[in-house]
Amino acid sequence: MYRTHTCGELRLTDTTKTVTLAGWVQTVRKFGSITFVDLRDRYGITQLLFSEALNADLDANPLGREFVLQVNGTVNERSSKNANIPTGEIELLVASFKILNKSAVPPFSIQDDTDGGDELRMKYRYLDLRRNIVKKNLELRYAVGRSTRNYLHENNFMDIETPFLIKSTPEGARDFVVPSRMNSGQFYALPQSPQTFKQLLMVSGYDRYYQIVKCFRDEDLRADRQPEFTQIDCEMCFVEQEDILNMFEGLVKRIFKDVKNIDYTEAVQRMTWEEAMWNYGNDKPDIRFDISICNLKFPAHTFPTKESQSALIDGVSFGVFDDAETVVAIAIPGCSEYTRKQTDELTEWVKRPQIGMKGLVFIKCNADGTFKSSVDKFYNEEKLKAIAAAANAKAGDLILILAGAEEKTRKSISDLRMFMADKLGMRKKDEFKLLWVLDFPLFEFALEDQDGGGAGRWVARHHPFTSPKPSDVDIMINNSPKVENLDKYLEHPYASIKANAYDMVLNGNEIGGGSIRIFQRELQEKMFAALGMDAEEQQHKFGFLLGAFEYGAPPHGGLAFGFDRLCAILGGSESIRDFIAFPKNNSGRDVMIDAPSTIDAKQFEELQIKLDLK
Ligand code: ASP
Repeated sequence: MYRTHTCGELRLTDTTKTVTLAGWVQTVRKFGSITFVDLRDRYGITQLLFSEALNADLDANPLGREFVLQVNGTVNERSSKNANIPTGEIELLVASFKILNKSAVPPFSIQDDTDGGDELRMKYRYLDLRRNIVKKNLELRYAVGRSTRNYLHENNFMDIETPFLIKSTPEGARDFVVPSRMNSGQFYALPQSPQTFKQLLMVSGYDRYYQIVKCFRDEDLRADRQPEFTQIDCEMCFVEQEDILNMFEGLVKRIFKDVKNIDYTEAVQRMTWEEAMWNYGNDKPDIRFDISICNLKFPAHTFPTKESQSALIDGVSFGVFDDAETVVAIAIPGCSEYTRKQTDELTEWVKRPQIGMKGLVFIKCNADGTFKSSVDKFYNEEKLKAIAAAANAKAGDLILILAGAEEKTRKSISDLRMFMADKLGMRKKDEFKLLWVLDFPLFEFALEDQDGGGAGRWVARHHPFTSPKPSDVDIMINNSPKVENLDKYLEHPYASIKANAYDMVLNGNEIGGGSIRIFQRELQEKMFAALGMDAEEQQHKFGFLLGAFEYGAPPHGGLAFGFDRLCAILGGSESIRDFIAFPKNNSGRDVMIDAPSTIDAKQFEELQIKLDLK
């Protein structure tokens, strides 16, 4: 037997017991004639005491960091206790030891505060994984997975595997493809998600499906994306949007409870996509803090449901506002006393290329009820007061105003909102706020080519299987998707169609999303056609799904959560990489196994692929 106990197990109540431990040498410290060793395994660290009697043995078999060691001895109460670790009250008085394997000197120290840089730790990921901090992340991931499985099992969901070698069913990204040796010239694609398979399972009558499953997307790597990532993928039949929302906020609340011991008892907030865009400038707002956008001016064609406030800023011949498509303001609590230097810094911040605004207007709402602004020349006290009231600013607040082209300005005010909240410590790591964003537009209009499908066409905002709101089905059926005037695409009836789609947002991150699906062949065909697929292409790409819809397809819907991201947020980290055992780096490489890599000429031959690398 290699061990009787783990290195995290022994306590004061075990004193006098004879035990055997096995693990890795964390540290070796010599004090005069005795030697202390910290022995580590997955469960913790136990201090070993080698007395003088073992010195000859130690000299003959010197220990080094990360050596694999087996020790036998007696549990002893420690004279100087360590309150920081659970085994800190005892130590093992070693009677005999055996080096099970030696270790080269590790390239970085195996401790929380390591001296190893990112690339080095990725190269030696198997050593990085020995660090407690990384292990904790994987334990959290395991706990999230376990909690998910328990909840879904209790709710009658069945875990069903779907294939990885499939046919390309695009969901907005590029596919990874795999050449088929047995079918020369033909390729499989790796799934971007099991979307069509889970829908087919609904047609088959497996009314509650889930899978914690790998998905593959060959996207240009943005920060913190992985070419392969994991989803909690779910689908149900005989459900409406409301059923899905209830079931899956239940799941996330359960995960909060199981993993973080948080009782999330309040109802999950909901907001429409339009409200999110209006009030926060993006579709995944962080609602942990109470700063929202005041729309002082906007182009008439966007978000047609909002009243304009432009009377507040018109009529003073202030060109910056007069010439802008959009003017938006946010009130930052308690910052009215910002100095010139501080407001200048904010101006510089919005002018950075990443934000790209021309400037920043501010109004200080002084504590004494007076106002001071960077546009005093144009707006008198009374006007400033009216703007402040519209922006919901209180005495002591600082109002920040951006003006410019609609899309850019809205994005910038959203970024500024987050920047200020970060600066003021309003985005607390240990606070969790869930939000459903609902009623997304069904289509987006691609003015420029996005994925090789050409420019000037409709693309599905979620994916082509998402159904329109029942009330908007007729708009889709009764209108041709053709856009005659590209400048006026927003006036096309398709631009107004809303989807039966929903996203779950946690602290400003989209953690999941899904939709009620189309389940009628005709509507699905209409959808494909709207996306520019003729009958032949539809048949080639999705004939199996259209066919299945002819054999009693039930109404169904579902969603998928980004498992890695959910774990990262629960673990209080910005990076999903920290929660994946063997992640790729930012250029999509596994630097440990050195992949991707070239393959043998013979492999090319077998695949009948000629590679012409110039
Ligand atoms: N397959 C979708 C996705 O990966 C999720 C869903 O609609 O269920 O985003």
